[in-house]
Order: sequence, then C-alpha cells, then structure tokens
Amino acid sequence: MTKDHQITGYVCAFCTNDIPMSSPDLRRLNIETMDGFPSQELFAHRACLARAISPEIPLGEVLDEDP
Ligand SMILES: [Zn+2]
Repeated sequence: MTKDHQITGYVCAFCTNDIPMSSPDLRRLNIETMDGFPSQELFAHRACLARAISPEIPLGEVLDEDP
C-alpha cells in the first residue's frame, strides 16, 4: 500500500492557518543560533511576519506589501 503524499501547503507559525504552497504570501523562516546549529525552519504569511516585527524596523523587499 503506497500513498502519494505530496506537500501542498504549510502552517503559518503565527496564526496557524494553512498557507497553500502556491500562495505569494508564503514565507520561509530559518532561525539559527550564531553558530548555525541548532536551527529551525518555520513558515508564515508575509503579513503575519510583518505584523510581528516592530514598526520601527525597516522591512526589506521580502516583507514588503505587494503593490
Ligand atoms: Zn499567518
């Protein structure tokens, strides 16, 4: 019995809603210590991530709102 298990989306680490893999709002977070280990990979909506960051911190292109 084999089942084709394909990943079609991710869970947002902030709001825990599903994010389809095709969503332009999907962002990947790589969190590491300065040594690079241990590390963890998380996924999030661009908007959820931008909301969690202080408005005093300038956001780069990857977090900019779509035009
Ligand atoms: Zn979210």
